[in-house]
Amino acid sequence: MTQVSQPYAYHRRELVEPDWTRLPGWTAVTPSDWDSAQWQRAHCVKSVAQLRAVMGDLLEDRFYADLERDQAERATMSMLVPPQMLNTMVPATDDPMPSAGAAFTEAFYADPVRRYMIPVFSDRRSDWPSHPHATRDSLHEHDMWVAEGLTHRYPTKVLAELLPTCPQYCGHCTRMDLVGNSTPQVAKLKFDLKPVDRQAAMLDYLRRTPTVRDVVVSGGDVANMPWKNLEAFLDQLLQIENVRDIRLATKALMGLPQHWFADDVVEGVGRVAHTARERGVSLAIHTHVNSAQSVTPAVARASRAMLDAGVRDVRNQGVLMRGVNDTPERLLDLCFALADGAMITPYYFYMCDMIPFAEHWRVSLAEAQRLQHEIMGYLPGFSTPRIVCDVPFVGKRWVHQVEQYDRERGISYWRKNYRTSIEGADTEALSREYVYYDPIDTLPESGRQWWRDAVDHEQVLAAATEQAASSRAAAQSQLV
Ligand code: SF4
Repeated sequence: MTQVSQPYAYHRRELVEPDWTRLPGWTAVTPSDWDSAQWQRAHCVKSVAQLRAVMGDLLEDRFYADLERDQAERATMSMLVPPQMLNTMVPATDDPMPSAGAAFTEAFYADPVRRYMIPVFSDRRSDWPSHPHATRDSLHEHDMWVAEGLTHRYPTKVLAELLPTCPQYCGHCTRMDLVGNSTPQVAKLKFDLKPVDRQAAMLDYLRRTPTVRDVVVSGGDVANMPWKNLEAFLDQLLQIENVRDIRLATKALMGLPQHWFADDVVEGVGRVAHTARERGVSLAIHTHVNSAQSVTPAVARASRAMLDAGVRDVRNQGVLMRGVNDTPERLLDLCFALADGAMITPYYFYMCDMIPFAEHWRVSLAEAQRLQHEIMGYLPGFSTPRIVCDVPFVGKRWVHQVEQYDRERGISYWRKNYRTSIEGADTEALSREYVYYDPIDTLPESGRQWWRDAVDHEQVLAAATEQAASSRAAAQSQLV
C-alpha cells in the first residue's frame, strides 16, 4: 500500500543564531558586545539612515525609498528594531545568503520578520489600506480604564499598562494609540499622571476590588522599565491577597533577550519568583513571537534563565498576519521551535486588530478558522494555540465561537458572557451582538462591490471616531 505523507511533516530543528558579521555594519561586532543588553539598546535601528549604515549596499535604493514613503504616509509606529531582531531577517542559516542588490532586496521584501517590523509603502493595500471601521484603540481599552492605564475588561482580570514604550516597535501594534513615538500619521496619546502616581492608583484599585485575581503587567513592554521600579511594583502587587496570577508581558524576551538573561535582571526575577512561590501566586512571562526564525539560541537562553529563576511558565501570544505566519506550516514551525528549542508554551495567536493601515496584515475570520483546524492535533493539547479574535467591546473569542457570519460582506457577529467595567448598568450587554469585519479585499467580488456601493468612507470613519470619543468620555466620567 502506498503511504501518503502527513499534511505537516514534523522535524526537530536545532536553533541557530544567524551570523551578524554577514551584515556590513556589524562585521567587527564581538560576541560579548552582542550579548550585552546595553550594546543592543545603543545600536537599535531607528531610521532609514541607520538601516543603511547596517545593511550597506545589500539593499537597493528602491527599498529605502519605499520605507521612507511609508514612514511619511502610512506608519502608525515609529521605527525601532534591535540588532537581535534585524539579524533574524534573511538569516541565511539554511541557504547561502542572497547576493547583494536585487537578490538580497527581494529576499528582504519577502522576509516575514521584516514584513511586520519594517513595513514599507508597497506592502500596504492601495484599494482599502484601512478598513472603514478601523479605529485607533480599536479594542477600546482606554474606555475601560478604571485608573489611568488600568484596563478592566474581563470580570477577574486586568491589564496594567505601566509604560508607553518598548525596546522594539512592531508595525501592527494594537496599542498604536498610546505606545511609541508619534508618527506623521498618528499623534500619540500621553499619560497624564506621573508613573509613581499611576502605579499607586492601579494598586489602590486592585486593593479595593477583590474580584480581580489576575494582573497582566504590560505596557508597552516591561523590559523598558528600570528593573528596580518594576520589582518595587511587583512586590506591592504580591502583597494584595486577591492577586493570584501575575503575567509579565514582554516581547523583548525575543526582541532583546539580552535584557532577560542579564545577571541583575535574572537575580531580580529570582527574588520576585521566590516571593510569588511563597505566597502561592503564579508568576509567568508572556512574550510575542510571530515567526520561527525569531527563535534563536539567545531567545532560548533568556527563556531558560527565567524558568531557572523560578517563573512558572513562559508563554507565547503571537499575532496572525498575512505574509508573516498565515500558513499551517509557518504556525506549526513556530510552535515547535518555541516548545522544542526554547521551552516556551504556544498559547494564543491573535487576529490582527482593526487599526488603521493594517488591511495587508489582517486575515479573514474564515481563514483563521481554517488555520485553527489545520494546526489541531500536532501539538500537545496544553500547547496547542487557540486562534482568537479580539472583538471590540467584547474581548478574546475563539474563532469558532462566532454566532453568525456573513461571509459575503465579511461581517461576523459575536456575543459575550460577562460585563466589562463600563457595563455595570447595561442590561443589554449580554444579549447584544458585537461586530467584527474581515478585510474587504478578501471578500468575493459581490461583497467588495457591496462595500464600494454602501460605504461613504469619510462618513463611516467620522461616525467611528465620534463613537470612540463619546465612549471615552463616558468612561472618563466614571473615573471621577
Ligand atoms: S512589543 Fe507589543 S506593545 Fe510594543 S510595539 Fe510591539 S506589539 Fe506594541
